[in-house]
Order: sequence, then structure tokens, then C-alpha cells
Amino acid sequence: MQTPYFLIDKERIEDNLKLLRRLMDDTGCKILLAQKCFSCYGLYPLISKYLAGATSSGLYEARLCHEEMQGKENHVFSPAFKDEDIDEICGICDHIVFNSPAQLIRFGQKAKDVGLQIGLRINPECSTQEGHAIYDPCAPGSRLGTTLAVFEESIRRNPSLLSLIDGLHFHTLCEQNSDDLKTTLDAVVNKFGKYLSDMKWINFGGGHHITRADYDIELLERCIIRMRDEYSLQVYLEPGEAVALNAGELHTTILEIQPADEQGISNVILDTSAACHMPDVIEMPYTPPLQHAEIISNPSHQSHLYRLGGPTCLSGDVIGLYKFDHKLEEGEELIFDDMVIYSMVKTNTFNGMPLPDIYIKQSSEKCTLWKTFGYEDFKSRI
Ligand SMILES: *Cc1c(COP(=O)(O)O)cnc(C)c1O
Repeated sequence: MQTPYFLIDKERIEDNLKLLRRLMDDTGCKILLAQKCFSCYGLYPLISKYLAGATSSGLYEARLCHEEMQGKENHVFSPAFKDEDIDEICGICDHIVFNSPAQLIRFGQKAKDVGLQIGLRINPECSTQEGHAIYDPCAPGSRLGTTLAVFEESIRRNPSLLSLIDGLHFHTLCEQNSDDLKTTLDAVVNKFGKYLSDMKWINFGGGHHITRADYDIELLERCIIRMRDEYSLQVYLEPGEAVALNAGELHTTILEIQPADEQGISNVILDTSAACHMPDVIEMPYTPPLQHAEIISNPSHQSHLYRLGGPTCLSGDVIGLYKFDHKLEEGEELIFDDMVIYSMVKTNTFNGMPLPDIYIKQSSEKCTLWKTFGYEDFKSRI
């Protein structure tokens, strides 16, 4: 197996799926895979065994779900749909969620006439995350979701809109626990509570880190049951990360180790790149976990300190600063953990970087090659 490559651990994914399935069985909620996080359809047959379906960000993901998760629910949300896509989307989806009353007016009746369930994404204006403003749809100036003021103004002008809507959707969390969901749900009920009994379903969006060890599932269950029992709503959740959390690695090889600087830190050049293979490291930003090493934020003079970076032209193509439990050698293989969420879906060939191959670890004995990429994948995109 030639580096760099992603290695998806099928058994770990199945462990996550079992936990999500139990939540569905215990509460009656329906869980959808958010494909934008993990659209490796090689595992869709497995995911289909456990979850209710998938959610899509637009036509292409909707097609992928339609082709690879046959017979499962296919939901779609986009901040704005295009006229030329809407017929095809309506032909393959069963739920469509609009971002604004204007989109609802433009496409809602048409979608309803061909049998889709219609949703509206709301903005409960309740920020529960600090630090990652780019992941906060409730931040001031957000274009995502309809605020109560906009909602009420639009139904005052156009009262028939309300009867078009089957469900409300909110998505405001990112890698959060259920205490933040509860806070958000209280805000949803405070603001939109009087409309909830007119609805058939409510979608809690994604960002629930359900399969993380410290996640409070009981509180999540109480949130679901509250909506189910007080408002007779079918509850949907659409996690991405929770499906494939801690379920895969990115393997890379050390190309060069530069001499240590006055702080004792050596720059290491890998055959993987933050900019090309794990852009969230730069965008979010965060430092990914690495086997046999710990992440260092304040370097004091210690041994085995290495700053890992990619082979691209970008000075900021740095993955992070790590303290290893041994002295590194050129040619050595390093393994980043938790690397299959928001990584494979975001890779690019900037600088002509090769895309990592994708392997699936079927069991402790067996790995299969799922995808291999080459020069043509770079050339064909431009
Ligand atoms: C990103 C997103 C999700 C999935 O989020 P995760 O953080 O991966 O769980 C679900 N729904 C919507 C609308 C999203 O934008």
C-alpha cells in the first residue's frame, strides 16, 4: 500500500451505526447520514442496514443517495436551489427543505404537487458555540435559516404558506453535546412553538457528536421524546461526523527531516498536505491526532519535537506541532487518526498533489482497495 492513503475501518463504522440504530429503536427518531461529511458510497450498503436514509446538499449528493441507497429516504437542503435542477431533485428526493420563504414560494408548490414533504429551515438565533464562528449558522448576519421575524412577516403577507410546510428544520450545532441541543431546542420552542403542532416532523440537523465517548445520550433521548410526545412530531437527526467518527486513518511517509531550530523543533515534510488532503486543519482550524505523538501548543525545550508540513508551496501548509515518543527517521510511516470525516470529501489537487488512495479495512485481517487516483484525476479537473 503506497502512501498517502485513507484507511476506513468498517467495523468502527458499524459500531457507530449500531449505537445510532439503538437510538432510533429506543425513541422512534429517524437518523439520516449527512453525505457531505462522508460520501464514501462503498459503505452505503452497510449504512443502509442501520439508518433511515441520507441527506443531501444539492443535486449531486441527492443523485448519489438515489443510486447507492436505493429505497431509503432521500432528503435535500440547499441555501438556494436552481431552476434547472429542481425537476430532477424532485424526481429523486422525498423531503426538500428550503432556506427561506422566497425559495418556498418559488419551488414549494411544485415540489408538493409531485409528492415531496416540504420543510423550512429556521434560525432560532441561539448561538451555543464559541471559537468556530464559521460553523455557527446563528452568528449575526447568517444567511442560513429563516428567523422568526422573517417567518411571521412572510406568513402575514402570504397566509397560505403555512399550509405548504410539513416540517421545520434547524441545524445550529457542530461537534457538540446534547446540553447545547437542549438549549437550542428551548429557543426553538420559545420562538416557533406555536407552529409546531401544525407540523408533521422536526429535523434537528447535524453537529450531534453522538458516538463520542462523553456524549450524553440520555439527554438527547429526552429532547427527542419531548418533541414526539408534546407535539406528535416525527424527529429526524442528520449527523455526518457521528457516523464515521474515529473510524479511519490517513497514512503518510516522511520525506525529509530538517535540522532542529534553536527551540529544538525540526520541520518534517510529509507526502500528505493539510491544504490538499485535510483542509479543515487550516479552515477550522484544528490539529489532528497522530499515533505515537501528542499535540503540543506551547513548546518548551523538549526532545522529539517536530512540526509536520506538506510538500506544497504554501507556507501555511502545516499540520501541527507534535512531541513524539521516539526520534523520527526519513522514510518512516506516520498515521493520523480520525481522518475520514470531512477529509476525503474535501481533497483537492492544488500544486498537482496526488489524491490519497482509499482503502477499506474489512476486518483485522482484510483490507480492500476502494479507489486509486493518478495523474488523469489531476488533469481532468482543469
Ligand atoms: C453539515 C450539516 C449536517 C451534518 O453535520 P455534522 O457536523 O457532520 O454532524 C447536517 N445537516 C446540515 C444542514 C448540515 O449543514
